[in-house]
Amino acid sequence: MADLPSIAKVVINLALDREFDYRIPERLRGQLRIGCRVWVPFGKSSRIGYVVGVAEKSAWPDLKEVMRIEGEQEQIPENLIVLARWIADYYCCAHEQAVRAMLPAVVRHGKMKPRQHLFAWLRPGVDVAAELEQCGTRAKKRAAVLQVLARHGGVCEAGWLTREAEATPAILNTLVKAGIVLTEHRVVDRDPSAGDIVLPTRPLELTPEQTVALARITAALDRRGPGVILLHGVTGSGKTEVYLQAISRCLEQGREAIVLVPEIALTPQTVERFRSRFGDRISVLHSHLSDGERFDEWTRIRNGRAQIAVGARSALFAPFQKLGLVVVDEEHETTYKQDEAPRYNARDVAVVRGKFEGATVVLGTATPSLESFYNCQLGKYELARLSIRVDNQLMPTMELVDQRAEASQKGGAPLFSRRLVQLIRERLDNGEQTILFLNRRGFATQMICQKCGFVATCEHCSAAYTYHKQAAHLACHLCGATIRAPEACPQCHDPEIRYTGVGTEKIETIAAKLFPKAVVARMDSDSMTAKHAHRDTLNAFRAGKIQILIGTQMIAKGLHFPKVTLVGIMAADMGLHLPDFRAGERTFQLLVQVAGRAGRGDLPGRVIVQTYTPFHPVLQFAMRQDYDAFYREELPTRQVLKFPPAAHMAAVHFRASSEMVASAAAEAFVNKIKPLLEPGVELFGPMPAPIAKVRNQYRYQLMIRGGSILRLGQTLRPLVTGATAFRHEDVDIHVDIDPQSLL
Ligand code: ADP
Ligand code: ZN
Repeated sequence: MADLPSIAKVVINLALDREFDYRIPERLRGQLRIGCRVWVPFGKSSRIGYVVGVAEKSAWPDLKEVMRIEGEQEQIPENLIVLARWIADYYCCAHEQAVRAMLPAVVRHGKMKPRQHLFAWLRPGVDVAAELEQCGTRAKKRAAVLQVLARHGGVCEAGWLTREAEATPAILNTLVKAGIVLTEHRVVDRDPSAGDIVLPTRPLELTPEQTVALARITAALDRRGPGVILLHGVTGSGKTEVYLQAISRCLEQGREAIVLVPEIALTPQTVERFRSRFGDRISVLHSHLSDGERFDEWTRIRNGRAQIAVGARSALFAPFQKLGLVVVDEEHETTYKQDEAPRYNARDVAVVRGKFEGATVVLGTATPSLESFYNCQLGKYELARLSIRVDNQLMPTMELVDQRAEASQKGGAPLFSRRLVQLIRERLDNGEQTILFLNRRGFATQMICQKCGFVATCEHCSAAYTYHKQAAHLACHLCGATIRAPEACPQCHDPEIRYTGVGTEKIETIAAKLFPKAVVARMDSDSMTAKHAHRDTLNAFRAGKIQILIGTQMIAKGLHFPKVTLVGIMAADMGLHLPDFRAGERTFQLLVQVAGRAGRGDLPGRVIVQTYTPFHPVLQFAMRQDYDAFYREELPTRQVLKFPPAAHMAAVHFRASSEMVASAAAEAFVNKIKPLLEPGVELFGPMPAPIAKVRNQYRYQLMIRGGSILRLGQTLRPLVTGATAFRHEDVDIHVDIDPQSLL
């Protein structure tokens, strides 16, 4: 026992952000490993924690002993403990918080057990004919059970067996007691995809560009060291097929793969393609899994019964031990960033996990984030490109419609330009389909009184209410609060209420009026509340039962419908003027992605871009689908302003129910941090957040840019976690490293 480590380093709870040393008692040595969940004495009571390290010696005298190990299932593999430590350091969160994120709650809580069923079979060597004779006419049920077993000729599930034989468990039991039948409990996975029909697919013959891209990836896989490849492929260029074949290679090597998608419910077609190729070697982790299913999927991965995990953000923590490949599809998506602690970006952590575990990481997208493309330029990532669509399918033709000109035609601007209406009509005549995109739900974005100027705003947030006509209410899109839509102005009681600003619901209403014969459907988070609504609508659209599909960003990505030959972008400049340095990048990405939904079959696609700012460079680059030009224009701005990717950024947020308190806390924090910053690091603020109040919480923020982000993290972390944390009464303070949104 002498050579086994005798000290366990344990993290216990969030508030402390410290590792505590405990002695490992003799009886637990050899059993206790890094990642174990353990009970330890703490103060006067005992607590549960995780072992994050072991050691021979401790600097502390008189250590207490680990009491016991909790459960077998709830242990975290050591590679994930290592990753958690990195996450805590980099993203400035409590160590334990990062450790907990490695396990799904259902596994962590340790209450779920594998589902077991009883199975029965005939004892080898039993003479069935003789036994049946013995049963005679008196023991009919007994005989029936034997007959079913003999006929089935193998292992039967006991429930099925007794039903089939119209017998009872008691009868089966007498056969077991008599030594004729053997039984055993076996684990049966709760299978979320049971009953789904998937048609298997075979690898496609690759295009020359795909071949080159795949060769890059397989070369990296074959090196078995870390490597990151940015796969920049235009929409419809066959990125997914490249992922699929890269995964095959990885599996051939006896290694495992993780595929991250931005949001699994929104990418059903992509997920299906993985399932069709790899069948039950794949584990799909989506948010609709029951606890039991989630538990079983995790166990399947942990035990090596599944070799591919597909899922959103947290699937990155799939407990594989031989990881060879991580694919991050649509790497530019903001959903990869978690907006609560630990505030990690799964794309970036994927690169880190790849580095630690010698895995290849593929970041795929039609519109790379500036960060990833910049890393290619720096030589940190390799670049592979797919510049044409598969089968030389043309990129959609993009056409700008200047809404200002439309507006001058007759009073007010129509939401549907004449050009758009004409093209939709043509589609309807030809039996083709249209997608209309507007990234704002609801009917109208503002309720304003014509007489006194009253604007209905949420009482808890600094935001105007959005009018939802079907639901007949006003809703706050920040906090979700709703009130009944008033019939007269709440202030002056004048009935002349006006609704301004457009949402998808209004587009739907107008489309239904303009095209009375067409079936129009809307897809946004208001209309898609029922469990299968999303899938049902997409299926109906695929089957051609819907001619015009209207939606928010929910329909922007991953959809592949050959009959869609027209995409209308209703208000292209909507997101351009948000107070966020990434507004241009986001708009570019969204426009290119949405446009990519058009012309994915044999018929050419057309995209109408309605805008009030037709000469805006971002729109111009999007029109030409010219990422490189966009990048060349955008990067220098970021460099001059020291914004990412040219510099790292951290935001510190302060939330309090009083504005004065929030601002005072922010000031005090600045005073504390300022002397600690390295030269060259710039601090901006404190200032009120662009959205100054949400859910009655006033928001202040602070921006820190430049210098080494790791060192900045080291400086910030003791101020926001653990016993040394900067505290200010009734203020919630948190750090966001590499923030994705500054609103
Ligand atoms: P992306 O992910 O880049 O948008 P997809 O992978 O969805 O593109 O590919 C678009 C379509 O082309 C899909 O229907 C896919 O099955 C098909 N496809 C991809 N690669 C090939 C290939 N080498 N030969 C034929 N069809 C292909
Ligand atoms: Zn609100």
